[in-house]
Order: sequence, then C-alpha cells, then structure tokens
Amino acid sequence: MRTALLESEGRLVLADLEPPAIQSTDQLLIQVKTVGICGSEVHAYRGTHPFRKAPTVLGHEAAGVVSAVGEAVTHFEPGDRVIVDPQWVCGECAHCLAGDINLCPSKRVLGTPAWPGAFGEYIVAPEEAVFLLPDHLSYVQGSLIEPLTVAVHIARRAGLRSGESVAVLGTGSIGGMVAGVSSAIGADPIIVADIRQHCLDAARERLGATHDILLPSKDLAEEVRALTHGEGVDVVFLTADDASLASTAVEMAKRRGRITVVALMTAEPMQLPAYSILSRELHVIGSTMCNNEDVREAIDLARSGQVDVEAIATHVLPIEQAQRGIELARTKDDNAIKVILSFEEASARPRMGG
Ligand SMILES: [Zn+2]
Ligand SMILES: [Zn+2]
Repeated sequence: MRTALLESEGRLVLADLEPPAIQSTDQLLIQVKTVGICGSEVHAYRGTHPFRKAPTVLGHEAAGVVSAVGEAVTHFEPGDRVIVDPQWVCGECAHCLAGDINLCPSKRVLGTPAWPGAFGEYIVAPEEAVFLLPDHLSYVQGSLIEPLTVAVHIARRAGLRSGESVAVLGTGSIGGMVAGVSSAIGADPIIVADIRQHCLDAARERLGATHDILLPSKDLAEEVRALTHGEGVDVVFLTADDASLASTAVEMAKRRGRITVVALMTAEPMQLPAYSILSRELHVIGSTMCNNEDVREAIDLARSGQVDVEAIATHVLPIEQAQRGIELARTKDDNAIKVILSFEEASARPRMGG
C-alpha cells in the first residue's frame, strides 16, 4: 500500500508497505481517503514528540471507507464511509468503564509504532473507535472532525457556558476549532491571539471569533482585560505550543477563571505566578484527546454546520507530497493552517490549494 513513512527525524519518504490485516473479529479494515497533518505529527517529524517516534507510520485524523469487517462487527459493512477516533482502549479499566477513555492507561494511539497510522492507505481499527461519516460531509471534512473533537473536549473540561468570555491563545487548527466550539456554545466575547494574521482571519471570518490580536503584542493580558471591562476572561484556552504564554494566561483570567492547557508538548516545567492563582482562585485544567461523547458531539456540530470545520483546511495534497505537506504544517508558509493528505486519484481529489 502507498505509505508516507517517517523513516527518521525530518525524513518522510514514500514507501510500499504490506497493508495491515484484521487480527480479531471485532476489527475493521479501512481504506484511508484523507488524513490531516496534526501539530503532534510535526513534533514527531522534528523528533520532539514524547511517544510518536520514527520509524513509524504517522496519521490519526483519518477518514475513509470500510473495506472489510470482522465477523463480530455489527454496525458497519464494507463501503461505509467512516472516521476513526484515534484511541484504541482496553474497555475494562475504571476510566474506560466511566466513559473517560482518553485516560485509559493502556490505550494505544493511532499513528504510533503500537498502532500504525493513516499516512498508510489502510488501517485496522476496533469497532468502538469507528464512527459513520454523515453522507453530506466530505472525506476532507471527516478528517477535520478529529481536531474539532479535541476542541469539544477542551470546552467540556473548561465547563464553558453560554455568555462566558473566552481568550484563545494560539489560533492554529486546535485554537481555530476552539473558537468555533466556543461560538456554538454562545460564548462572547471570543478573543483570539496568534502570531499569524491568516490564522486570525480564519477564526474571525468563519469561526465566530469576535476580536483578534496579532502577536507579539506589547501587553497581551492588558489588551484582553481592556476588552472585558478590566475583569479578564472566564476561560483562557492555551492552545499555542509556547509555554511562555502560561503566565500571560494567568494574568488575563477573571477571578475564579479557568485556564485550559492543551498543546504544550513539552516535559519542561510551566512557570505560573503562584500568588495570582491562589488570590484569584484560578483553576488550571489539563485536556487530552477526547471521549466517545465528544466525537458524537463533534460530528453533530460539523454535520449541522454550527462549526465550519473547513475554515482551517488550507491545503489538500496527494500522499506523494507528504514531505511538502508536513513542511507546510511546520512553517505555516503559503497561509497554511491545516494540511490534509489525500489518497484519492487526482480526478476525484477535492480542488484546493497546493
Ligand atoms: Zn490531531
Ligand atoms: Zn482502559
């Protein structure tokens, strides 16, 4: 099968690998049509991800078509259009039983040596991780449901409610989707900040952000407070891969506000001003991936158009251009936000930049 293999740090090469095979009766074989390139994959490519290491087949934002099912699979048949939640969990631990599958200590994640990913044309998945893609959503839109799902989970972890004020620090794929989910929930204002104007434009024009701030700013926290009558925001979403924003996030949070930490792929300590946290009774909340309820909600938000998932999709490239795609995702050159790789033949491929 056609595969973009992460051979070593910084080298994504085209390879012809043996497709995976169904190993037990509850599994499906899926032919991948499109796969998004995630920030975590850029980390793997640069050799800075905690568990996505070369050599491996990356790719966890998969949409495709079922090509075979095990005998015990009940909800799917060959030909079904599907997306995959990239978590393969035990189903038996206390977290799985409580529905918090993202916390399963023995979970495998798609796009790692333990579960080869969708930069290869075929993947195997357990039935619990597979969801039907609604008919009128394209495969590209299907690949965008994973980052949307992550955003739905973050908003749930933050306990975001209608009418609350929000700041999103870092408005790439996840930050953009967080703006969209915040808007769907009814948050106002939704202040987005990023170092790239094109990311801010997508958030403001298509995802419901009400204010944008181009970074670096002289005093970001002060600007956010000025937009909220001096009080600060109810929820700060720290969606940039920049630990230095953490103390700024604290400064712009309202009394008893919540700060949600998402995209910091580092083991380095995060510096937070202790007195501000205790004196204003702030909550600092971590968020990782999602649970099944989040996936269903994300599908619903995308299907109903409440979140315009395609707002972040800037490039669809053939799998053969994976190396170029991951470089675009890394540099965000050419106004890139989310780059999607496609296995479809050129004639069937969606027309978009590239
Ligand atoms: Zn992702
Ligand atoms: Zn478990």
